[in-house]
Amino acid sequence: MTGQTRADGSLRHLLTLEGLPRTALERLLDRAQEFVCAPGARPPSSRLLAGVTVANLFTEPSTRTRVSFELAAKRLGADVVNLEVQLSSRAKGESMLDTIFTLEALHVDVFVIRDAEAGVPGLVAANVAPHVSVLSAGEGSVSHPTQGLLDALTIRQRKGRIEGLTVAIVGDIRHSRVARSAYHALTTLGVAQLRIVAPPALLPGDDEFHGCVRHADIDAGLRGADVVMMLRIQRERIQDEAQLDSADYFRAFGLTTARLRRAKPDAIVMHPQPMNRGVEIASDVADGPQSAIRDQVRNGVAVRMAVLATVARGRSGADA
Ligand code: ASP
Repeated sequence: MTGQTRADGSLRHLLTLEGLPRTALERLLDRAQEFVCAPGARPPSSRLLAGVTVANLFTEPSTRTRVSFELAAKRLGADVVNLEVQLSSRAKGESMLDTIFTLEALHVDVFVIRDAEAGVPGLVAANVAPHVSVLSAGEGSVSHPTQGLLDALTIRQRKGRIEGLTVAIVGDIRHSRVARSAYHALTTLGVAQLRIVAPPALLPGDDEFHGCVRHADIDAGLRGADVVMMLRIQRERIQDEAQLDSADYFRAFGLTTARLRRAKPDAIVMHPQPMNRGVEIASDVADGPQSAIRDQVRNGVAVRMAVLATVARGRSGADA
């Protein structure tokens, strides 16, 4: 995609994975792998971002993404400020861009932005000074690029490859930025078959997810899959959400141990979280031997370190 890279081709912003070449994705995954830290080990740290200030600007709730961006920046030696919507001047009616210009004047170099409204990270990226980078931490239901990268990294670690695999994404695809970014990452990285599995009301329109195999029946959708990626119902984006009964949904689409047997015996189970146990996934599956959900969380920090290090490397004067 135009607008994310500098004239020399280096990555300046990360707003979407759509259109990023395979080599760029693989470079980010390789870099992230270097930052991966085994459970219990002391996380790697460096001074790569010393003197750089990162602002986390989240106007939608977040636990994992915000904390992992903060830890990633700190482990690279950056200064970090966190702004929540009620703290930012947006609540007082100031426009988002005025807030951005204020923070820029305070020497913020990297904005990490989550917003429910589509277009906000791109708008900020189009208006900041040339040395400033913008990283999307989730844009409406449009994209969540670092989640797409951490999902790809998790699959690559657990399966040894992405090429040739069958991946089933199951649940509320229609409203999911996670599914959209996974689609862009995995198709670029050569997945053999990407299935989107959802009740008809939660499947996206035909103008999206080109090349994916659509299933309205979970049992057919799981058959022979190498990777099963479960999604939460995004009730906050659904107008008639009261009509979606959790118990009915679990009966029809919940991932249980019995259902998981339809996938390959060594299939892995993923979920971006927050998880609704007993709605889209049974607890014993979420905590079971095939679950890669905690790896996803761990990989989130490594991926965000890789992205921060990559955008900082291209800054003039940076020696990263
Ligand atoms: N945490 C993910 C997101 O921000 C998934 C979810 O909320 O269901 O999109």
